[in-house]
Amino acid sequence: MASIQALRGMQDLLPERKRLFRMVEDAAREVFGSYGYEEIGLPILESTNLFKRTVGEATDIVEKEMYTFADRNDENITMRPEGTAGAVRLAEQHGLLFNQVQRLWYTGPMFRYERPQKGRYRQFEQIGVECFGMPGPDIDAELLLLTARLWKKLGIEATLEINSLGSNDARATYREVLVKFLNECKDQLDEDSQRRIDTNPMRVLDSKVPGTRELLKDVPLLVDYLDNESKAEFETLKGHLDDFDVPYVVNPFIVRGLDYYNKTVFEWTTDSLGAQGTICAGGRYDGLVEQVGGKPTPGVGFAMGLDRLALMLEHSTEAEARADIYIASMGDASRGRALRIGEMVRTALPEMKTVVHCGAGKLKAQFKKADAQSARVALILGEDEVANDQVGVKYLRQDTEQTTVKTAELISHLQRFFTA
Ligand code: ATP
Ligand code: MG
Repeated sequence: MASIQALRGMQDLLPERKRLFRMVEDAAREVFGSYGYEEIGLPILESTNLFKRTVGEATDIVEKEMYTFADRNDENITMRPEGTAGAVRLAEQHGLLFNQVQRLWYTGPMFRYERPQKGRYRQFEQIGVECFGMPGPDIDAELLLLTARLWKKLGIEATLEINSLGSNDARATYREVLVKFLNECKDQLDEDSQRRIDTNPMRVLDSKVPGTRELLKDVPLLVDYLDNESKAEFETLKGHLDDFDVPYVVNPFIVRGLDYYNKTVFEWTTDSLGAQGTICAGGRYDGLVEQVGGKPTPGVGFAMGLDRLALMLEHSTEAEARADIYIASMGDASRGRALRIGEMVRTALPEMKTVVHCGAGKLKAQFKKADAQSARVALILGEDEVANDQVGVKYLRQDTEQTTVKTAELISHLQRFFTA
């Protein structure tokens, strides 16, 4: 029979990779907690309308990337391509918004039907943060300080790029100017960009096609059409970043691929991942709560890609030992004893990884397994040891003679060894 493989773009996370995901998540949990952010859990499935209304009908995500289907009851549902829409729905549905301030975060898989490549998958994981009830720019600065602190904790080098998308009115004025410019050089644009002139012209600025990028050298920029409020807030934000020595680059081409952003937007990028260089991206979305049916509520947030962060950490973090203590046994009569000693050691030394050899096998083969898992100590339970209520102790990473200790003294023996 042909073997069954994972679906294209659906990543299997083997232990080494999963451990890096967990490392990022633990660091994020600690940093976010220290700023008073609270974790929420969001459903993977949402009504398709939620994303159409928020992310936007003319965006890549909604146009061609969503996993959408009718369920058994003919409801049109979608596997979430991102978390912000769901977080806004959750906050509105459960009354977390009226007259309140919220600092929330979540983590989990997202789904987009994209062309799989390094750092780009069809199921990928994000950690997202969403803040409600604060108009900025102080909260915008807090989000950037918080992410900078996380990179420091993880030992990650990243560049901060910021931009302001201004108010809806400013963007509408700019859009007309931009569409005029794009139409004038339409023939020279790539096909995608030509199509976007009518549907989502701002996204053309984000194009990666070299010919299009070349043409964009002379494109009018949104900065020159910004409303005064957005301009002032952007300046204040820059001042905060200067005060805290967070370096940044103003990149007028950051537009973000989703419709809901306004005012401050930002991306943290790295050049160590090739084309998939954005590890974290976000911005303000002051109109979004209204779009899902709530009262006007300021909002700001970001999402970072765990897959890309794990790729960055892969080379800088050492592999972890799979076992500290390996319990070997000889003979059927010793098996139960091996399990018992394992339980005893874990109760006394819970921070150690204690692995019991299960199944038969020569002692030599068992020591090999212990070594392969980087164990420092093998405990040996042969017939003699069991008969005399003893345990053999073999040191796998140093030149110390193997010894035998009384079972009652095993724990203090191990404690002395591991703290020496
Ligand atoms: P990109 O420009 O790289 O496609 P995006 O603008 O679509 O990113 P967002 O929707 O803002 O990305 O998601 C935030 C982060 O999630 C990205 O910066 C990236 O780290 C990660 N991400 C997005 N799409 C994928 C994917 N298909 N596979 C892996 N990570 C992803
Ligand atoms: Mg994308």
